[in-house]
This record gives sequence, C-alpha cells and structure tokens, in this order.
Amino acid sequence: KSMQIAIDGPASAGKSTIAKILANDLDYVYVDTGAMYRVVTLAALQAGIDPNDEQAVTDLLPNVKITFKPGTPTQHVYLNGQEVTEAIRSDEVARNVSAVASYAAVRSTMTELQREIASNAGVVMDGRDIGTTVLPHADVKIFLIASVQERAERRYKENQAKGIDTDTTLAELTQAIEQRDYLDSHREISPLKKADDAVELDTTGLSIDEVVDRAKAIIAD
Ligand code: C5P
Repeated sequence: KSMQIAIDGPASAGKSTIAKILANDLDYVYVDTGAMYRVVTLAALQAGIDPNDEQAVTDLLPNVKITFKPGTPTQHVYLNGQEVTEAIRSDEVARNVSAVASYAAVRSTMTELQREIASNAGVVMDGRDIGTTVLPHADVKIFLIASVQERAERRYKENQAKGIDTDTTLAELTQAIEQRDYLDSHREISPLKKADDAVELDTTGLSIDEVVDRAKAIIAD
C-alpha cells in the first residue's frame, strides 16, 4: 500500500534532501510544497506586484500555473511553462515568500493542488503545514529540525556550490532564516508547527545518511 509521508520543519533543516532520497528509495512522488509558494512569489515579482499587496497577489493566482518535471538530483519547476527551477531560489524570492504564503487564497489554492497530487500516488511531501493541515491523516509525520547555525552553514555551502547568491554572507543567511521562521510560525493560517502526532528529528551534527536511516526507522515503526 502506498503511504503518505509528511516532512515538515523550519527553513533549511534538510527536508528536501531527505524527502528526495526517501521518495526515490520508496518509488514515491516527491512533492516540494515550498517550491509552489516560491513560484507564486516569483510570479508576483515578475508581474511588478508588491508581494505585500494581498489583493494584487490574490488576483494574480488564476494566472499562475505551476508544473513539475521529475529529475535527479533536481526536479524541474515551471511557471506557465517557463523553467524557474533556479529563479525561485534567489534571495529576493526567499525574502518575500513568507508574506505571500500568509494569504488565505494562496494557501487554499496550494493546499488543494497538494492534496490532489497526494490522492494519485504514494508521496513524500515536504513543507511547513503538511502534517497539520494538508495531510492530517498522513501515515508518517516527521518534524525535522537543526540548530540555526548549522542550517545557515548548510545553505551557505549549497549556495556556493550552486553559484547562487554567492556574495550573501553567513551572517546574512542566518538572519534571513530566523526572519523567515519567525514569520512562518507566527502567521494566522496554518503556521509552521509540529503536528501533535509528528516525530521530531534533530539533524544537528548528523550526516545525510544518518538522517535517512533515522527517518526510515520512523517509517518502519
Ligand atoms: O521549503 P522552502 O524553504 O522552499 O519554503 C519557502 C517558503 O514557503 C516558506 O518559508 C514558507 O513561507 C512557505 N511554505 C509554506 N507552507 C509550506 C511550504 C512552504 O508556507 N507547506
């Protein structure tokens, strides 16, 4: 039987890395829900809309078509048919995504899309509200955390390796992560929060293999 596996947690805790490996090993579909909110944010920025203007972002939603194409190691993301896989990872998108993700219309549209994907296949879905809101009956719920220092360091190394925002300092990344976590956990609708029945997994100091092993033990339990 195909399962629904929800992986939530704060920014840069390693959710996508772990979720991708699990999905690949289980032959399930990996769903990066953060990418969806990032696409909406990028669409607003490209349209010259102020991300803090809820009405304008809401009005834009019908014109935002998000599609994914599976790929290893990176899945490809498209906005109205145009590839935005790298564009959605920019500092500018990261700075504005929490505002966009706080809007009721944005959340209900994304949640519907996510549930539809999960109804068709076994999924490993990563996000902030999967265990609490999107898939409250998920078979497995993991809440992934790590110290903010380690999360910023991981993101810094990733940026350098990918050549994205290479002049953003470690201190700036730390601050940006803290700011985003604060906004995500204090919004009104479906804030970032561990579901009561989720298992917390602290990845500080663990290798990717170690985290995957622990996640698999949780899934098998
Ligand atoms: O996971 P990632 O860092 O790419 O997520 C980007 C942003 O999208 C988060 O900071 C949050 O504002 C929003 N998000 C959300 N709910 C989710 C996934 C992401 O609000 N399920």
